[in-house]
Amino acid sequence: MSKSKASFIGIFGGTFDPIHYGHLRIAEEVVETIGLREMRFTPAGIPRLRYAPIASPQHRAAMIHTAIQNNPRFVLDERETRRPGISYSVESLRELRQEMGENITLCFVMGADAFMKLAEWHSWRELFRLCHIIIAARPGHALATNHDVLPQELREECTQRWVSSAGSLECASNGLIFVAPTTLLDISATAIRAGITTRSSVRYLLPDAVLDYIETNHLYSGEE
Ligand code: ATP
Repeated sequence: MSKSKASFIGIFGGTFDPIHYGHLRIAEEVVETIGLREMRFTPAGIPRLRYAPIASPQHRAAMIHTAIQNNPRFVLDERETRRPGISYSVESLRELRQEMGENITLCFVMGADAFMKLAEWHSWRELFRLCHIIIAARPGHALATNHDVLPQELREECTQRWVSSAGSLECASNGLIFVAPTTLLDISATAIRAGITTRSSVRYLLPDAVLDYIETNHLYSGEE
């Protein structure tokens, strides 16, 4: 069934420790390219596949709130930081599907580095029954368009799912994968945290207001 673009909703998961211009620019470009009604930034509480975030869930959510407040299409979704235990994206997508109904098409956004590891995620095949996947290329990580670099299990699951235009996402309400054309920005939260800890400048890698928040709350300085 063809879907109206007005019903497309983006979900952007991550630790956002802290949010930076790499995240924000991808979100802006994906919203525009696909015509998303909104992009929901969904910070993980306790991630399963990586070390625990440095900043608390409350601080990470507050930084997202600060960064997105002037964009009417950007929304902070705190369901994963409020849910006890490990954060599973699949649970959030199930909940959103229930809350928003069948007329909504969910588009889960991730960088190429995250996509490479998708087969390690909890109930990862179920994701394709709940949403489309939108991939953003990331400097230093293999191009998602080169399917040969994908782990075999993931490559096989994805074979019939790739689409080469945003418009093709309207052909189904879930299960398709699109590599969005996004500006390559070699920015990572890891580098930002390291810069703050060593007192190097991280200005212009993230919004000034987020940097002010970090300084006011002494985040990543080694003092917290
Ligand atoms: P860290 O350095 O702490 O691992 P990060 O910068 O990768 O953090 P996350 O919050 O872990 O940020 O990322 C959330 C999502 O955004 C992931 O899917 C990740 O691949 C993607 N992402 C983050 N930064 C970029 C970037 N510069 N370009 C493309 N994708 C990115």
